[in-house]
Amino acid sequence: MVQTVVIKPKLEFAPSRQGKKYYVKTFGCQMNEHDSEKIAGIFELDGMTRANAEESADVMFINTCTIRENADDRLYGTLGQLKKWKNEGINRKLLVGGCAAQKDKQLVRERAPWVDVVIGTHNLTNIINLLNQSEDWGPITEVIDEIEELPTDAPSIRESEHSAWLTIQIGCNNSCTFCIVPSVRGPEISRRPSDIINEASELVESGIKEITLLGQNVNSYGRDLRIDNKSRPYFAQLLHKLNEIEGLERIRFTSPHPKDFKEETIYAVNTLSKVCNQIHIPLQSGSSQILAKMHRGYNKQRFIQKVDMIKNIIPDVSLTTDIIVGFPGETDDDFNDTMDIVKYVEFDSVYMFQFSPRPGTKAQDMEDNFISKDIIKQRFQYLKDVQTDISEKRLKRFVGTYQKLLIEKESKKNVEVLTGKIDSGQITHIDNKDVSIGDMVPVKITDSTPFYLKAELI
Ligand code: SF4
Repeated sequence: MVQTVVIKPKLEFAPSRQGKKYYVKTFGCQMNEHDSEKIAGIFELDGMTRANAEESADVMFINTCTIRENADDRLYGTLGQLKKWKNEGINRKLLVGGCAAQKDKQLVRERAPWVDVVIGTHNLTNIINLLNQSEDWGPITEVIDEIEELPTDAPSIRESEHSAWLTIQIGCNNSCTFCIVPSVRGPEISRRPSDIINEASELVESGIKEITLLGQNVNSYGRDLRIDNKSRPYFAQLLHKLNEIEGLERIRFTSPHPKDFKEETIYAVNTLSKVCNQIHIPLQSGSSQILAKMHRGYNKQRFIQKVDMIKNIIPDVSLTTDIIVGFPGETDDDFNDTMDIVKYVEFDSVYMFQFSPRPGTKAQDMEDNFISKDIIKQRFQYLKDVQTDISEKRLKRFVGTYQKLLIEKESKKNVEVLTGKIDSGQITHIDNKDVSIGDMVPVKITDSTPFYLKAELI
């Protein structure tokens, strides 16, 4: 069952839809998931309650993504099916937001004219106003280029009682050629440290034990802020401040950028008791010439230096990464450079993607250099096989160790098993006789499988 925690609302207006139900469908990344929590929070301020299924909803919000493979096809397929949903109920309202709405507002209108509201990523807090207007005047589109209000100031309905996302920054100043984020989310804007600390404290008061700091480039946090004339609130300083919050047990963060990792951040991860022993460092490719084509701002050597720096400071750190296989122009030698790094670093896990051109990105224009799908599939499978062995080996190092486990949910495959994560992020299963969801318990790791650990209470 989904549990909800309502965070104290900062938006205020008279509820006008008591008795109505909403359903939010989310595509894409954690940033979208968190935006969907805010949309749910705003809907509940307006008097609506969450529908358990699409069929019982009066208002449907589709939070779209343009990054993942076939995202556009899936979106328009979904909107096609929802035409039927809309026609089957009286006064049903269909709303579309997220990156696709920001990038392709006209296309969404043309391909799905039955959508009532198209809203961009910068003005989410205006959603009820737009919904009201659509009821009075018919379909409406509002997509703005500049941020008017940080969407982080909206209330949230969290999916979990013990873990929460906390946005510290929105947008991105980089220009990776495979990525649409800078054009749909705008330039980097950091939230004020005091707002972040206050929100974290409110979360802890409401029972949250673990927060995950969220941003497109978290470790460059604060470079756009100047608290006084001398200092800036660098990411490490933020971690220090959050670590002082009484009752907070764990701090995670995603996603950092390899080029922006500073020693002070790594020392903070190592020394601050609440910051988890896990670092995501997105490689994307191990080839210097592909990294240059991606505009990543580092080369193979520099990435290795960053990893060495991290491992020197935290030898037992868990490292995870993202890799795109088959970026335009990737030769066998380029792919071998990627595999060199995979074997050298021994990541705990790798999020792997097969390159597919995303509309609106520079990589889409590199058509002359596209790699055949067969070659991409072969390389992808090889990477997967090698990494599966590495991940399995990395999990084994925990067997026999003592850990703290935060229990998150029931296992999908076995109702007698609960699953959670240890400090360094590994999925761990435990018998449900011993613990409940939300518990933070000391455990001994008794066994490992290729994909998760098994534990018993101590
Ligand atoms: S750092 Fe690159 S991949 Fe990440 S959000 Fe910015 S442009 Fe996209």
